[in-house]
Amino acid sequence: MKINCCHTKGVGEQDQPHGVSKIIDHKTSFSKGAVIMETKDAFSNPKETIYKNQAEQIIKNLKRRNMTGIYCENSEIAVREICAKIPDGALVGLGGSETIIESGLVDALRKMNIRLLDRYKDGVTRDEVNEMRRTGLLSDVFIASSNAITADGQLVNQDGIGNRVACMIFGPKRVILMVGMNKVVSTVEDAVARIKTTAAPLDSIRVNVETPCSRFGFCKDPHCTPPNRICSQLVVIESSMSPDRITVVLVGEELGY
Ligand code: SF4
Repeated sequence: MKINCCHTKGVGEQDQPHGVSKIIDHKTSFSKGAVIMETKDAFSNPKETIYKNQAEQIIKNLKRRNMTGIYCENSEIAVREICAKIPDGALVGLGGSETIIESGLVDALRKMNIRLLDRYKDGVTRDEVNEMRRTGLLSDVFIASSNAITADGQLVNQDGIGNRVACMIFGPKRVILMVGMNKVVSTVEDAVARIKTTAAPLDSIRVNVETPCSRFGFCKDPHCTPPNRICSQLVVIESSMSPDRITVVLVGEELGY
């Protein structure tokens, strides 16, 4: 069965066989939550089918929690969607994230007419990055990923410094989180396990900090102390007081750690 291309047919124009979830047109309002796909055979790729089914569930649960979710089948679409939601001249902060780099989002943001706090640009100093972290707390839009998201829509993150989780909770007017479907887990406990066995070891290596998990591949908490320890704050976002302040852009790919 074919799911039709959102660029060739409008909303409601798709052929809609029984048992196939409705695919909402690319132009569907970002703020309402949507599953955004291009031409795709729903049953030729089991992984994508599972991603889409999981995403539909998560989007519903995010809505219950006063957050917005959308699903994009690949990074290219996700980057386009995210950029389209950032107004000209906006002050845009970035959280530490491999996802936003490897997806091409940071490169795309650099081409926009915005005030980007570009912590990844060549030659930036540690002091400048720290100042961007502080300025980002009052940005118009803050962009990052999430270490994990549960099927119930809880966002689970662990920070070393804390600016990223602080921005997610309060400060920036709008928060956009780009999350590869490899970060979907069943429970908060699974999310923490994912952080300790996948995100923290790989992130330690990415930021060139020697931690027990970067050597062994799993957490050895009693032997991990600052300043190298990159797990200092564990934050579970259960809901948002401001409607649609937080948008989660789920991407049907493996992205980041
Ligand atoms: S507490 Fe230390 S060893 Fe454990 S996951 Fe975090 S950085 Fe790694």
